[in-house]
Amino acid sequence: MTDTILALDLEGVLVTNAISQFPRPGLMQFLCQCESLFGQDNICIFTSVREEKFKEIANTLVRENLVPDWFTKLRYINWVGEHKDLRFVDEDINKVIIVDDYPPYIKQTQKHRLIEISQYLEPYSHENPDFDDKELEALLLKLKIILNHH
Ligand SMILES: [Mg+2]
Repeated sequence: MTDTILALDLEGVLVTNAISQFPRPGLMQFLCQCESLFGQDNICIFTSVREEKFKEIANTLVRENLVPDWFTKLRYINWVGEHKDLRFVDEDINKVIIVDDYPPYIKQTQKHRLIEISQYLEPYSHENPDFDDKELEALLLKLKIILNHH
């Protein structure tokens, strides 16, 4: 297994947002594959959603069988400032990969550690979210390629 740490944003990446909480298609499979690639201890949540709210969302997703049980126990990154500084995850930022839909959050000097993903959007009222979204599948391929090149 790798010692690379995968930092996942929540809103717009794994779910639409903290209010509507629609899971991105393929979420369960994505997380399970990430577990076998990185290990649970090397996956963390790096979000602007506060910890209590994250736990609440995670518990709901577990109850609905949309994520594995261990999702609620993932390391939650406490951070301050205007950027998601990867040093909050590990002092060696080159061990960290961050997945985010909002690049301005990432410091310019750390952009090489970012995998940008398109924002998973909340549907207009009375519509369904995009069930055909394939971004998590594409992301997994990118992660596999990166890990093989290490
Ligand atoms: Mg986001």
